[in-house]
Amino acid sequence: MAQYRGRFAPSATGPLHLGSIFAALVSYVHAKQHDGEWLVRIDDLDEKRCKTIYSDSILECLDAFGFKPSDYVRFQTERIADYAVALTALEDEGLLYSCDCTRKSLPRGAYPGICRYQIGHALVSGHAVRIDTSGINLEIHDLLTPVQRINPPGDFIVKRRDGLFAYQLACAIDEHIDQITHVIRGIDLLESTPMQRFIAQRLGYQSPVYGHFPVLVGADGAKLSKQTFATPVDWGQPGQSFAAIARVLLLNDTPSHTDSAEVWIEYFLSLDNFLPIITKVSEANTLSI
Ligand code: GLU
Repeated sequence: MAQYRGRFAPSATGPLHLGSIFAALVSYVHAKQHDGEWLVRIDDLDEKRCKTIYSDSILECLDAFGFKPSDYVRFQTERIADYAVALTALEDEGLLYSCDCTRKSLPRGAYPGICRYQIGHALVSGHAVRIDTSGINLEIHDLLTPVQRINPPGDFIVKRRDGLFAYQLACAIDEHIDQITHVIRGIDLLESTPMQRFIAQRLGYQSPVYGHFPVLVGADGAKLSKQTFATPVDWGQPGQSFAAIARVLLLNDTPSHTDSAEVWIEYFLSLDNFLPIITKVSEANTLSI
């Protein structure tokens, strides 16, 4: 097994924007600087929001930006059987229960355990499935940010009432199947880490090392995201996007007048303190573009 296996896992819910290119770049540079492998996984479970045109566009865009995966591309929709096996294993451990609470009926924040009395009963189809999180470790020893304690998520959903496996479950299983050793991703996903680590632990899997980096935000202070229709990057001009990232990071001696993705990637790879630079220039875990 590789000493270092990282990944980039975009959702197939829209074309890549500058924030996603930044996320790809950080995970790519970290992997390559550790002589590691770098995989691409398309998170496409949510059939209402995910589309093949988006996954195609994401893969073509990554290619145009010079990000070369070390192995074939993974798709979550090809792993439904694996998630089902994992769910049964968790059920056999007596950790799962059905929940018919509606989002509207619940207070904000952690799930208060209303349906916990269902533990030990057969799972009911058409109801959500929650996992008993007693004993969850909320402390995160991260590669890039100081030790943090996350607010308890409560018993979170591992399978939705519409039958879709939840991201937290799928992601934990994916890291295991793909033998991911390092998850380097945006700090917006920090709160997912204890949940994914909890599932891995309960299934007897070794958890990867985590690193969460600051995310790019727009003028309104909101994270660039596909949901808010952040402007897609221009594949024909990767240099434009890479230069924008370099500007945000206050980098000097950047390649000039070139749209060659290879030249830009080589440049970022040559920065031996790339990750500390990101953390240093960011304020409140964000970087304004
Ligand atoms: N696909 C999810 C996202 O884009 C998860 C990514 C991850 O775990 O790195 O937000």
